[in-house]
Amino acid sequence: MISFSETHEPEMSSLEISPDIETVWNEFLGLIKSQINSQSFKSWFEPIHPVRLEGNLLTVDVPSQFFYEWLEEHFALLISSSLKKTLGAEARLIYNIAPLDDHAASSPFIIPQTESSAKTESVKYIKSFSQETVQPLTYDGTNLNPRYTFNNFIKGESNQLARAAAMAVANNPGGTSFNPLVLYGGTGLGKTHLMQAIGNYAIEIGKAKRVIYVTSEKFTIEFIDAIRADKANDFSAFYRSMDILIVDDIQFLSGKPGTIESFFHTFNSLHQAGKQIILSSDRPPKELQGIDDRLISRFQWGLTADIQAPDLETRTAILRKKCEDENVVIPDQVIDFIAANVTSNVRELEGAFIKLLFNASMLNREVDVSLAKEVLKELVTEIRSPVTIEEIQRLVAEFFDIPPDLLRAKTRKQEIVNARQIAMYLAKDLTNSSLKTIGLNFGGRDHSTVIHACQTVEEQISVDAKFKSTIESISKKIEIYSR
Ligand code: ADP
Ligand code: MG
Repeated sequence: MISFSETHEPEMSSLEISPDIETVWNEFLGLIKSQINSQSFKSWFEPIHPVRLEGNLLTVDVPSQFFYEWLEEHFALLISSSLKKTLGAEARLIYNIAPLDDHAASSPFIIPQTESSAKTESVKYIKSFSQETVQPLTYDGTNLNPRYTFNNFIKGESNQLARAAAMAVANNPGGTSFNPLVLYGGTGLGKTHLMQAIGNYAIEIGKAKRVIYVTSEKFTIEFIDAIRADKANDFSAFYRSMDILIVDDIQFLSGKPGTIESFFHTFNSLHQAGKQIILSSDRPPKELQGIDDRLISRFQWGLTADIQAPDLETRTAILRKKCEDENVVIPDQVIDFIAANVTSNVRELEGAFIKLLFNASMLNREVDVSLAKEVLKELVTEIRSPVTIEEIQRLVAEFFDIPPDLLRAKTRKQEIVNARQIAMYLAKDLTNSSLKTIGLNFGGRDHSTVIHACQTVEEQISVDAKFKSTIESISKKIEIYSR
């Protein structure tokens, strides 16, 4: 996982001779364009404005916080791989949330808003794509996203218990019986938001100083790196020095016994010292497989609270709040229409909202129900459109760091054969294509080869937990990409 942190742009003391920003930008856009549909490209890449290139550090303006998050959510992988191709492995990207007025003339993206409320501050997010494996574990302030607060977390029946527990913990971290606090629920329902809100609030009221947020994937990577660099002690010491430890999406720990062992000790040490632990998962702890029972039973020491999909009333309230935050006025009818139709989760609700505003500004249309209808139609096909075999090949090849062509070639080298079988299996699993079509797309192979590949992969999944989690993480990448 690539993490971002709010930061100030670093000072550049010596400027290298850099290639022309326009050339770099066009090359980057060219790569992106070849990999996504034109509607998405238009919506999400044309409005980005390159502003500066210093060495391998590219600064771009994006029209809103929301826009930035959407890019991160849906295109992070694509952006990082394209930028690395353009600027090299050390490429870094700064997102600047630009005041909208700045580019009103040059960007088609203008969110209708009242003059007096025009935003003037600009927020920066810096991303370093090569950072993943070289992060020294030093604590220089919390890495929480300040956007996640209780204030902008809308209360509803679906999240009542989770929110109340979160507030109790935020007021008295480590001091309630809710330790650990485990939040679970489906994707996009507000787990990350709520966990981070606890940290932000506890810091704000002076109840915690050292608060760290980490996804279980990042925790795993750091752990492996620490072992490799013979720094396991530093790793443990770092996490054990926290007042609040927040670990997101712990389901990804499954099948990683080394990391689990380390986490188990960290957990015990913090718990004994009366420090707060907050965890999230996509399912109830007792349903987590591939995680040690000892650890699961500890998860149940505190409070486990679920978050459900928001009901209509909550969805409406969330949209109203969004309008307020983004300083836009949208007719009630339109809000009601979106709230009635986007039911699955809050993330999609937000997506529909931003897309509506976006289309309104691009097409210069009034925000009414008929526009909302069009937008939702688009959104639904975009979300549901199945991933293509070619995209699967590209992402599998990227994962194994081999050229995608080899998946279609005759090569019988073992590692290529393995990757090819995985790609075939995923093509069967994630697309509606027939065995015959899949075979054809892998260099004209026979359907029986595809069957054999699927069986081989399935067998290995059933006996090898590590392999299983590799397949899961590749499929997750594909899913994210194709959303
Ligand atoms: P999860 O971690 O459960 O997948 P997130 O916390 O990332 O979900 O939430 C997805 C998006 O929805 C975020 O932008 C978050 O701010 C927003 N969101 C979720 N629940 C609420 C809520 N109750 N009120 C306001 N915004 C919410
Ligand atoms: Mg989350």
